[in-house]
Amino acid sequence: MDKPLQIAIDGPVGSGKSDISGRLAKELGLTYLYTGAMYRALAWICVREGVSFKDVPNVFPLLSKYSINLRPPAKDGSLGFAVWVGDTDVTDKLFTPAMSQGSSDVSTIPEVRKFMVARQQELVRGKSVVMEGRDIGLRVLPNAQLKIYLTASLEERARRRWEQYKTKDPTKTLVQEIEETKIRDTQDTSRAADPLQKLPDAWELNTTDMTQDAVVSAIIAELGRRKLI
Ligand code: C5P
Repeated sequence: MDKPLQIAIDGPVGSGKSDISGRLAKELGLTYLYTGAMYRALAWICVREGVSFKDVPNVFPLLSKYSINLRPPAKDGSLGFAVWVGDTDVTDKLFTPAMSQGSSDVSTIPEVRKFMVARQQELVRGKSVVMEGRDIGLRVLPNAQLKIYLTASLEERARRRWEQYKTKDPTKTLVQEIEETKIRDTQDTSRAADPLQKLPDAWELNTTDMTQDAVVSAIIAELGRRKLI
């Protein structure tokens, strides 16, 4: 059997990772795995249990109390899968500002990261995948054939988030979105445990002025150049 093709996509909030990974996986017929969903699910569990996101000794044990699973099919088709905590489908609950900040908080806990990485590796062992997150090239798929670091300017990333959420939260201004994006950037890049970073062996793509079609085409061209497809 051919070696599975594994593509790792890392990058900051709003760099386009989810949309691009989903579309790329579809075009290439690969499995898509969005690892941020697992950290968001843990934030949801914290709220349910009344545990503060930053309460380190009490957050980690929640991972043995609840199981987090990603299962197809998705309800609305955008993620490609649904996120389950035990026997509850929590997909619709995960994309709020509180869950965004909560997932960033719980992801700073080293034991949590170790657990998540092991789980994620287990989910894709032997599979051809497009996997996205913050530590995919570094920890989850260190042997990925292509590691991509997606970026875009802070203003453009915040603008994308704002457009995405403005019907859910019409009171939020673009300036507030820029501030929130900055806070998550700082937390994701400065945490002690596996901070978000551009790895020396990653291929960087700045998507500020690119359409999604153009980004997907550029990645496919790069895969072709490297004779991976
Ligand atoms: O990708 P998304 O923004 O939904 O992820 C939510 C949060 O989970 C991120 O801000 C980041 O702190 C954390 N995360 C992580 N490692 C991953 C995926 C997500 O630390 N592989």
